[in-house]
Amino acid sequence: MNTFFIETWGCQMNIHDSERLEGQLRAHGMQAAKSAAGADLVLLNTCSVREKPVHKILSRIGELALLPNKPMVGICGCVAQQEGEALLKRSRTVRFVLGPGQIGRVREAVRAVEQGKRVQITGFDAEEDYNFKTIFRKSSTRGMITVIEGCNEYCTFCVVPYTRGRELSRPINDVLSEARTLAGLGVREIELLGQTINAYICPESDASFATLLGRVAEVPGIQRVRFVTSHPRHFGDDLVQAIANTPKISRYLHLPFQSGSNEILKRMNRKYTREEYLALIQRIRDAAPEIHLSTDVIVGFPGESENDFRQTLDIIESIRFGQVFAFAFSPRPNTPARMYAEQVSEDEKKSRLHRLFDISNAISLELNRELVGSTIPVLIDGESRRTSEDWQGRGEDNRVVNFPKSSRERLGDIVDVLITRAGHHSLYGESVDSPSSPQHLPAL
Ligand code: SF4
Repeated sequence: MNTFFIETWGCQMNIHDSERLEGQLRAHGMQAAKSAAGADLVLLNTCSVREKPVHKILSRIGELALLPNKPMVGICGCVAQQEGEALLKRSRTVRFVLGPGQIGRVREAVRAVEQGKRVQITGFDAEEDYNFKTIFRKSSTRGMITVIEGCNEYCTFCVVPYTRGRELSRPINDVLSEARTLAGLGVREIELLGQTINAYICPESDASFATLLGRVAEVPGIQRVRFVTSHPRHFGDDLVQAIANTPKISRYLHLPFQSGSNEILKRMNRKYTREEYLALIQRIRDAAPEIHLSTDVIVGFPGESENDFRQTLDIIESIRFGQVFAFAFSPRPNTPARMYAEQVSEDEKKSRLHRLFDISNAISLELNRELVGSTIPVLIDGESRRTSEDWQGRGEDNRVVNFPKSSRERLGDIVDVLITRAGHHSLYGESVDSPSSPQHLPAL
């Protein structure tokens, strides 16, 4: 096999896992194809958090089987861990199944396929060789680093503890070494990744996530550090203070609350109350008032009454999140909530989602409009998706900003941009002369 193509579903962890898969396939001597139709091997890096992933994957496998080039298919990610051997049995096109805990063994899977075998490599027991030097990174300005894998929380709606296993933190020195390597390549912004990132504890020194965050921010050349995803119950004062006192830590924070009702939070096994969540937000805002917040919400969890749902809306209206990632509850395999009584009808879930988005979109627009007329530093990380005549970048609070290119800036610069227009999901402006802009990348 000479060429590969990777299709990725799901979260940042999966996007980064695809970078790890790609790097290893290149190290194996394979080259990236432009599409599945030109590849010998297609990897489907799957997500099983929502909707009907297995159906989608099976239908995609069917489409791939009809391609004239008849690519071999490897299933990776959470559906691979969840379904395992069943995927090999469902389709001859599938040559291997590789769980998210076994990403480091993709070359072993490819070698087996080259010898005519079909293999399943799942589970979490491998001594993983985490070789960050083989990661093939898509962005030259922003770099993702996994600091903790898995999750111990067992929220009753979520498959992650079953598909990604128990929490496993990487040693702080490994993470710092990866951050220094990225800085040396010209990366300006680091995004630290983990399902419950603030549960991080260094297995060698017991250093906390707040310590890790501060140390990464000190790496020379790194201008910004972001992190996803935090769990409210692990958000200690040391982390609040680290954010408040370290300007390089992003002014953006993603902090899921899932439901505004204590009864539903209890059924979800979230282990905090709405009062505790609201008090945490107050502590964060007291320490760092400029923080821009986003959150995750599940609508229509079993037993959610109109009153429970209104309590969710109440939190959205009172906190005023910049972005709300809301999803209708869907029963996932192996999870307790799948068997709960009082499932909410699909029509009701849809109607509640609409009501929620009407409110949250209006708030996003209001918050973005508040920035019109102000000048903010923007890290350029690519071309605008709409036109090659504009740059796209992000402000310190992670909001997307587009502005016209000029001959003065380059990819990776941080430039001051005067915001002139605001939409629901992005801002538009023009770069302005200022002593701090542009800051060019060092030559490689
Ligand atoms: S904290 Fe809950 S929702 Fe998040 S990954 Fe763990 S089990 Fe899933």
